[in-house]
Amino acid sequence: DHERTQEFIAREERYGAHNYHPLDLVIERGEGAWVWDVEGRRYLDCLSAYSAVNQGHCHPRILATMVEQASRVTLTSRAFRNEQLPAFCEELAALCGMEMVLPMNTGAEAVETAIKAARRWGYERKGIARDRAEILAFTNNFHGRTTTIVGFSSEPSYREGFGPFAPGFRLLPFGDIDAVRAAITPETCAVLLEPIQCEAGILLPPPGYLRALRALCTERNVLLMADEIQTGLGRTGQTFACDHENVRPDLYILGKALSGGFYPVSAVVSRREVLGVFGPGSHGSTFGGNPLGCAVARTALRVLQDERLAERSAELGAWLLDELRTIAHPDLVAVRGRGLLAALQLRVPARPYCEALKERGVLCKETHDTVIRLAPPLVVKRDDLAWAVAQIRAVFAR
Ligand code: PLP
Repeated sequence: DHERTQEFIAREERYGAHNYHPLDLVIERGEGAWVWDVEGRRYLDCLSAYSAVNQGHCHPRILATMVEQASRVTLTSRAFRNEQLPAFCEELAALCGMEMVLPMNTGAEAVETAIKAARRWGYERKGIARDRAEILAFTNNFHGRTTTIVGFSSEPSYREGFGPFAPGFRLLPFGDIDAVRAAITPETCAVLLEPIQCEAGILLPPPGYLRALRALCTERNVLLMADEIQTGLGRTGQTFACDHENVRPDLYILGKALSGGFYPVSAVVSRREVLGVFGPGSHGSTFGGNPLGCAVARTALRVLQDERLAERSAELGAWLLDELRTIAHPDLVAVRGRGLLAALQLRVPARPYCEALKERGVLCKETHDTVIRLAPPLVVKRDDLAWAVAQIRAVFAR
């Protein structure tokens, strides 16, 4: 059986581009918080595809919608209208307390869409001179992999060899409100931030920062764009990470769990004043707003609400953080997180710990070398989570 695993790996290495460094297990099935590999071994998924499967693998209700819709119509393009798009937009706008939705597919596309919306808003509504609009972003950001987006990344490995990059972005230290205040000019159209920097290692801003940023953006007529692609839709114990400070951004950028992992669905959600800048011909996507994606997303959102997954995340997450904080080991320097989004900050590379956890049946992945990210599906059972904590204790007991 081990040979089977090696065979899949060798084939992938030979024919697939090497732009990832996965743990060497080959998954063939998933259910709830658990996945099975081709050797029949079972693992508790503590990554959730970077929070795309908050609802759990192959959620039966989302699956039923997927099959039902796929048997009727999957793709119309936006050259014609489809009967799923209106309800998707209305329901997602309501969830966000907003007026309009622009559907796309991947997270990076939604970020690109927000950038275009903010710039055009800057020219048409704020009166910024043509091609002068600036967007403020933050060091250690992660917003995706397009050339524009990696152009304002502060991570050399994301950028190296991919220039020239688009101008119009400026990076500031994350969590420093005075730096933002000093950087805003009449040409600033937007601030783009992750309310918790996930890829950077689950970095939480200081308390009050989001609220102060909200006030500052309002005062200076700058759009606050929250990339909630990873933090949103229940992950941190609220519907959105911004909710922890009662902040409503001007734009929500959503993806991942919007489809419960079944299909790439992303969206920008905002007010009419902002998304109204797009007219016919200004933006689009062949698959964006397709009936299959819309139907799947509608059920995925209903599952989040019906199963009270944000509340589950808050309860189980608080318990998990308490448990993790009782682990004492010289390699472990800090435990942080919010809801079921937790990080173990190590002094040493995290990869060997992730490998050891995999051997014990717990799947998680290092981020930025020294951080272990724990983000199980929000449907995870408390007993299963307790079992995972026991495995984590065991690898830190060696
Ligand atoms: N923004 C954030 C905060 C993310 O975590 C991610 C993906 O990890 C993205 C954007 C990009 O999303 P995608 O990989 O779907 O393009």
